[in-house]
Amino acid sequence: MLVDATVETQRQGTVRTKGVVLRRLDTSSGDRNIYFFLKRYGPTWVFAPGAGRGKIRFGGATDPLIWSIVDIYRTPSRVYLKNLDVKDDFWALRKMPKRLRLAMEWARVLCSTLMVQQENDNILALFYWSMKFLENPKIPSTLTEWRFFWRWLKLWGTAPEIGICHECGREKAKWWYLTKEGVLCADCKVGKNGGIAIDSTLLTVLKNSAFLKKADFVEWGSRLDLVDSLVIKKCNKLLIEALQETV
Ligand SMILES: [Zn+2]
Repeated sequence: MLVDATVETQRQGTVRTKGVVLRRLDTSSGDRNIYFFLKRYGPTWVFAPGAGRGKIRFGGATDPLIWSIVDIYRTPSRVYLKNLDVKDDFWALRKMPKRLRLAMEWARVLCSTLMVQQENDNILALFYWSMKFLENPKIPSTLTEWRFFWRWLKLWGTAPEIGICHECGREKAKWWYLTKEGVLCADCKVGKNGGIAIDSTLLTVLKNSAFLKKADFVEWGSRLDLVDSLVIKKCNKLLIEALQETV
């Protein structure tokens, strides 16, 4: 019988939820431990006895980055996988090696940053949509990555301010310097170390990537052609560092 998964006092029994595989580990005895990022339960190790032996029930459905509806059975000491129904295997993304690698990197950041068994449904939804955008070959992957990490930091209340200079509040400048706290105009940057130099055009691109609604981001991102992806990669790295410092 399915138990209402919202009853948090229910520590034992079967619940149905959905989520994505972040990583998996096969034991030498042929069992499989799957690290799911689950709705309502957060990142959770789920045990699938015998699943690593090859001719198993779950097969490739427990590969990283596959999204499914899962039935799990919880005991006080362990969580077991009872059933799994694949909802989105991101087949198109799997055929794009560079983009797939990027998604795997995001999964690694999720593994190292999120607390085990702590609900993080907003981030889960953000991850799903970021994978969707990544699967769209027309949208530059660096911008999807920027959007993913900036919005993640925003949800945690620590996103860098990118709308105005975070020291003097100025809205317009030719050059900006991105730091973990936000962008600085050239005047406020004087005498300070660090900061990634970005021009006003690129700042607009970053703002659009972060702020636009889903449909608008797809439309705008698909039409964009000239993007300095090296600088954006540096900016993305800065966001990932900022995230890792919050834990
Ligand atoms: Zn300033």
